[in-house]
Amino acid sequence: MIPWLRVLPRPVVLVTLALASTAARAGELLIFGGPIYTGANRPAKVEAVLVRDQRIAFIGTLAKARRQARGARSIDLKGAAAYPGFVDAHAHLTAIGLRELTLNLEGTPSIEAVVDAVRAWVATHPGDDAILGRGWIETHWPEKRFLTRSDIDRAVKDRPVFLKRVDGHAAVGNSAALVLAHIDRNTQDPPGGKILRDASGDPTGMLVDNALDLMYSKLPQPSKALKREALERAVALYASRGWTGIHNMSVPGEDLTILNALAAEGRLPIRVDNYMVPEDADAVLTKGPSQDASGLVRVRGVKLYMDGALGSRGAALLEPYNDAEGSGLLVTTHEVMRPILLRALKAHAQVATHAIGDRGNRLTLDGYEEAFTQDPADAHDVRWRIEHSQILSPADLPRFAKLEITASMQPSHAISDLFFAPARLGPNRLKGAYAWHSLLDSGAVIAAGSDAPVEKGDPLVEFYAASYRHDLKGFARADWHLEEVVSRPAALRMLTWGPAYAIFRERELGTLEVGKFADITAFSVDLMTVPFAAIPPARAVLTVVDGKVVYAAPWKPR
Ligand SMILES: [Zn+2]
Repeated sequence: MIPWLRVLPRPVVLVTLALASTAARAGELLIFGGPIYTGANRPAKVEAVLVRDQRIAFIGTLAKARRQARGARSIDLKGAAAYPGFVDAHAHLTAIGLRELTLNLEGTPSIEAVVDAVRAWVATHPGDDAILGRGWIETHWPEKRFLTRSDIDRAVKDRPVFLKRVDGHAAVGNSAALVLAHIDRNTQDPPGGKILRDASGDPTGMLVDNALDLMYSKLPQPSKALKREALERAVALYASRGWTGIHNMSVPGEDLTILNALAAEGRLPIRVDNYMVPEDADAVLTKGPSQDASGLVRVRGVKLYMDGALGSRGAALLEPYNDAEGSGLLVTTHEVMRPILLRALKAHAQVATHAIGDRGNRLTLDGYEEAFTQDPADAHDVRWRIEHSQILSPADLPRFAKLEITASMQPSHAISDLFFAPARLGPNRLKGAYAWHSLLDSGAVIAAGSDAPVEKGDPLVEFYAASYRHDLKGFARADWHLEEVVSRPAALRMLTWGPAYAIFRERELGTLEVGKFADITAFSVDLMTVPFAAIPPARAVLTVVDGKVVYAAPWKPR
């Protein structure tokens, strides 16, 4: 038995120990004992990887690796399978941590269950401070409707409650929260936002997109200490799931400061590439991308929003919704966006714009294209991205490859949304929705991720969704365009090489090749051969970042 499996009983402890030992790390790791997929064409699969310092020194047969090893620490995979490091190309680290620290409503099965959860939170957290929560979604509830303030008032009426829907693009407040935010029947909808109202014109408590801030800005903001705790939780959680890196979206300056501090203290197990909120993007829009001394924390560019989300009908569509009035919300105007794009182009900074609806995507592509023609000298190879690229008009699909825009997509959204997207969009628009295969065929690069905390943030779920396009119970509707699945090697590439390309690092990350940085993920199953149903219940057993073991789990051989 290998020492790191025997000594360390529980994953949480493992991360701490692995990190604590980084100062004294041995120079070499020899990984063998299971299939090792390189992600490269030749060889695609090897017996052993030898890591020396931060980099891959050798890949090939175990016999040759042993001859080259000089006192390497051995890691026997015992039948687990290793891959290039999996990278979540779109997630929100602080919010992932806060989800663990505040009222987590993930998986609540009904309105009653939410009310009970709030009651239970009140019982264990007495006082009068605001209650924040996140993670509910009504699409498979028996009640089939959004939450209202009166639902939450039944649990607690005199203390503000603010519960974000799972997508983060809508939230419900109770009556105390509405009072705190000064929202009543006379309050106007803000531009790009909606205050939902009942038949008599009173606010129901539900706020969508830009209306969220009316309430959120009145609530106490998480302290720097709480954010630090959240970030530490999130990066440890991510390492334990097999992620070696994350593209962190909509990052405030304060969060970047905390990440830099964690890295300087040796407490950051994974790579974090940051796309800043526009308010805190001045440095990157002036001086361009940067990195910290550890090389783990980078600032890549700015994150913008074009529209809202599909579930709360904020996604901007070219034609009206199939199941409601209206065609969604545009949250940023061309006038606001244009100068940011031109500054980014000059500074060689990246722009990552959230676009879900076909109209949102078209306007983003138009905006990028127009900026490129304004400053054609700098327009080559900036690798701007569209976050989600979710519903595309067939006419716009080839524009990603043509304009060299990376499609940053979340496979799990397709298997979460299959319950409501057909109703929202109708049959015709499903054709360009979550169109991974068509995008790859067109020559576009996809960088895949999870959008956690909107989704769980699990590389296995993302791989499963990309390669199978059925929900976690194995269900998919007949009209769910299953031809848009991708092959297993393509799914692997979307979660490894794609994210590396998206941040200009495909020459040093993204595949297991000699000379590249040693970022390696091992899962308990061989993703290339096991039945699809075996993928979501599998788990990460080893995470190596920059040549260091940052997570290792107890793992019995088959
Ligand atoms: Zn997001």
